[in-house]
Amino acid sequence: MEPILLPAHNPGPMTGSGNNTYLIPGRHGSATLIDAGVGEPQHLADLAAALGGGRLEAVLVTHGHRDHAAGAPAIAAAHPAASFRKRPWPDEDAQYVVPWRSLDEGDQVQVGDDVLTILHTPGHSPDHLAFWQESTRTIFTGDLVVQGSSVMIHWSRGGDLGQYMASLERLLTLNPLRLLPAHGPVIDDPQTIVAGYLEHRRQREQQVVAALSAGLATVQAITESIYDGLAPALMPAAQENVRAHLEKLKVDGRATDQDGRWTQ
Ligand SMILES: [Zn+2]
Repeated sequence: MEPILLPAHNPGPMTGSGNNTYLIPGRHGSATLIDAGVGEPQHLADLAAALGGGRLEAVLVTHGHRDHAAGAPAIAAAHPAASFRKRPWPDEDAQYVVPWRSLDEGDQVQVGDDVLTILHTPGHSPDHLAFWQESTRTIFTGDLVVQGSSVMIHWSRGGDLGQYMASLERLLTLNPLRLLPAHGPVIDDPQTIVAGYLEHRRQREQQVVAALSAGLATVQAITESIYDGLAPALMPAAQENVRAHLEKLKVDGRATDQDGRWTQ
């Protein structure tokens, strides 16, 4: 059945126009929700209206970042029969008190007559999952892809650029027709968008390698050389991104660090 977009009504600097959650209708009025939002009253009201008296069976959460998981307790209060499932990330999950049940790579979740196959797609966060609906060749992509924008890789919070790029490549191998992301519009040309994402990261990596070659050795110096003129408020995020690239280069054997100084 066609998913129903339910905006989480949480616009902001880190969420853009706010998160997308998706309600997938099942059988006999039951339904499954992808991502929990943050518990905004309007989101809960929209959810109740879309259910129309039917039962919320499960909430499948793509990852433990606040804008995807924080609404779980409010949804649980309104829909006590619902189960809440995600890949465990204990330190983060403990903030959102619901009886989380584990969901992981290869699991299959029945939604009405349809099946969602669970893909572990780490990189943006260690627990990140995507949900593959083969019948419609649709992937619910969480924070793997945002059209027209770049996805944050917070190295200091479990992000891993190498894993992220491998997760994107994995999406392409499924040959999806449509991506339903947690931010921004539906993506109807996944191959183009995801290939563009990978290319953007490779170009950024070349810039980091060039900065190392030029003798720049700290995350700050490399960031300032690449993101010349960036608004100061955005610098911490840019530094996280550069750090993620450096850590990937380290894993690839192309950079080393000692006492915060990086060399090739
Ligand atoms: Zn996220």
